Amino acid sequence: MSAAPRCLGCGAALELTLVDLGHQPLSNANVRPEDAGSPDRVFALHARVCEECWLVQVDAVVPPDAIFNDDYAYFSSYSESWLEHCRTYATEMTERFGLGPSNQVVEIASNDGYLLQYFAADGIPVLGVEPSANTAAVAVGKGVPTEVAFFGFGTATRLAAAGRSADLLAAKNVMAHVPDINDFVAGVAEILKPEGVFTVEFPHLLRTLERVQFDQIYHEHFTYLSLLAVERVFQRHGLRVFDVQELSTHGGSLRVFACLAAAGHTEAPGVAHVRALEHAAALDARAGYLDFTAKVEKVRDDLMSFLAEARAAGRTVLGYGAAAKGNTLLNYAGVTASELPMIADRSAAKQGRLTPGGRIPIVAPETLLEERPDYVLILPWNLRDEVAEQLGDVRAWGGRFVTAVPSLEVW
Ligand SMILES: [Zn+2]
Repeated sequence: MSAAPRCLGCGAALELTLVDLGHQPLSNANVRPEDAGSPDRVFALHARVCEECWLVQVDAVVPPDAIFNDDYAYFSSYSESWLEHCRTYATEMTERFGLGPSNQVVEIASNDGYLLQYFAADGIPVLGVEPSANTAAVAVGKGVPTEVAFFGFGTATRLAAAGRSADLLAAKNVMAHVPDINDFVAGVAEILKPEGVFTVEFPHLLRTLERVQFDQIYHEHFTYLSLLAVERVFQRHGLRVFDVQELSTHGGSLRVFACLAAAGHTEAPGVAHVRALEHAAALDARAGYLDFTAKVEKVRDDLMSFLAEARAAGRTVLGYGAAAKGNTLLNYAGVTASELPMIADRSAAKQGRLTPGGRIPIVAPETLLEERPDYVLILPWNLRDEVAEQLGDVRAWGGRFVTAVPSLEVW
């Protein structure tokens, strides 16, 4: 037995398991057909809880070159609803903090400028920080100046010295993907102006546990955040939380507002509210984490029984949504092309490839519809209604939809 791994946040030994999902390939590593015979690189996918600072995390066992390879750079195709979320955010922040031409808005992992474009359109100076040069170039083409870099203390120091300190610093769903959370948060404190505001969004661990969303766990996602754990990390770097909002994105997210400890922002009631929710769910004690494995095993067993029964009855089940979530679920359960012969996905870049692990062919949605399946297993449960609407034809031949999380549902 090797020694227990250490917490990414505080360095304490990690003795408490949240769930051990076994050895799995990287969930975004779709396979080219010509490579179908080569074995996947697999890595332990083991989520643990730090009993000192309550940071939930997966063992950092994947070499960075395996994650940040050529296939990693991608252009997200943003949904209308997500862009609307971003537009509303820009309006709210501009009004609440009185932003104007003399202020500076900075976004970490700014991608193609999808968010900053709304501030820029209002004449507010913006700066994106984005590690992918190709993506950054697209942002610059849209009039969003972008620094090609990973964000951390080094980048923040450089930008602050160049006069780019932030009145508003935004991070949407990036903090969980950062391997060194201390370096990241130290950078946040470094780049904020004295009264600057940092907003960060992340899937709320409370909802992940409650709704058995274990398929949010994958190697590229290092930490699973509660307000409790985030406040501890922030405190360590001289930041304090002054507001929290609950959002419906990603199955239940938080938007946390933080500032330097000495800044004048007064604490809003949302902070105490979410602290109380987390305390009621025992996220500040072992008890909050102990029954998750049993719930995850039930999701797996119910899915496998459903697939076996459908097969025995001569019914076809096809999948929809070849994304990280689905791959975690399918590989943990051990689903292969024998149980689920194809998965449809709208992304042309994925079509023609095979899922990692299970080697399930990824096809266009039209191909799935031509097969007239009896059941369509929708893997991205957060988009279930949107997907069911897109695949409305399935109802015409009496087909039904299936979701496995939080519990098996045929509808
Ligand atoms: Zn810790």
